[in-house]
Amino acid sequence: MEKLKLAVYWASSCGGCDISLVELGEHLLELARVADIVFWPCAMDFKYADVEAMPDGHIDVTLFNGAIRTDEDAHIAHLLRAKSRVLIAYGSCATEGCIPALANIKGADHALARAAFGEPTTDNPGGTMFQGRYAMPEGVLTLPVLGTQVRTLSQVVPVQYSIPGCPPSHEQVWQALNAVIEGRLPEPGGLLGVDARTVCDQCPRVREGKIRVERFLRPHEVIPDPERCLLEQGLVCAGPATHAGCGALCVKAGMPCRGCYGAPDGILDQGAELLDAIVAGMAGESDEEIRRVVSTIVDPVGTFYRFSLAASLLHGLKTSPLESGATCETQRIPGGREGDVA
Ligand code: SF4
Ligand code: SF4
Repeated sequence: MEKLKLAVYWASSCGGCDISLVELGEHLLELARVADIVFWPCAMDFKYADVEAMPDGHIDVTLFNGAIRTDEDAHIAHLLRAKSRVLIAYGSCATEGCIPALANIKGADHALARAAFGEPTTDNPGGTMFQGRYAMPEGVLTLPVLGTQVRTLSQVVPVQYSIPGCPPSHEQVWQALNAVIEGRLPEPGGLLGVDARTVCDQCPRVREGKIRVERFLRPHEVIPDPERCLLEQGLVCAGPATHAGCGALCVKAGMPCRGCYGAPDGILDQGAELLDAIVAGMAGESDEEIRRVVSTIVDPVGTFYRFSLAASLLHGLKTSPLESGATCETQRIPGGREGDVA
């Protein structure tokens, strides 16, 4: 039997998604029996030229992790789209922007001027700034240039599937890879390896259905009751607004869910859904009291949109359709087999 050709790429992300693949452990040996890895620059010495030399549609499946933040990320996204029959957005950054997309709040210039080349992180008395091109006597040096906004993979090229999570759990990844290996992939356009419910549905903690708190707390401020719902104890837990799939990992360990599996099916905006759940839990309180208690949440955008800002309705307000690109459910994959759609 001909082996599958598998590619893995890392755009703007922390590297945790690549590590989640290594976490497959002995399943990697099973994977090696049925698939050849034809491109995985994080793990082995591949060159972009190797991919450029491949015919279109040569790669069976690409797992693309990381957000699209630089011109290099966008270039490789287009290249791998052309060379892959199935392109999968792997992990939260590729699927919905994740932590890198929080930079969209103030934009790339702010990130460069303050976070990367200015105080408080950098001692830079000469005010040296990043340049994408620099002419030397020996030739022109280039570096990837940040785009104005961090985007999801599907905002740049069509993708068939997404595997959410920061990072995806290895059980979920193996489940998704098995679907690839056994040719059991569902209709394009959905999430792989998730449960149709929310994290709350997988959480063993007891819920009373009422949030009665004076103020919201940060995790370091309290040792919560191990049996009761964290949200009802004043910790912002994104469980009601988050796709199930991880088995409620964080809440079982005593930490609130941060929402890394993204919005549940049918929910357009994860942050709005979580805010809605919190307000519903305070039903019966006056509007004034609800506003007062909700206003005690520190860093509301970072809390409600920690993972999903680039894919949220807030992102839509700032980005025109032309800038954001578009997903296309029916476009033929270049070089794909009959019936393959993106
Ligand atoms: S809000 Fe969090 S702690 Fe409460 S039931 Fe849902 S997942 Fe569990
Ligand atoms: S509990 Fe929430 S933050 Fe933790 S892994 Fe699951 S979805 Fe992600």
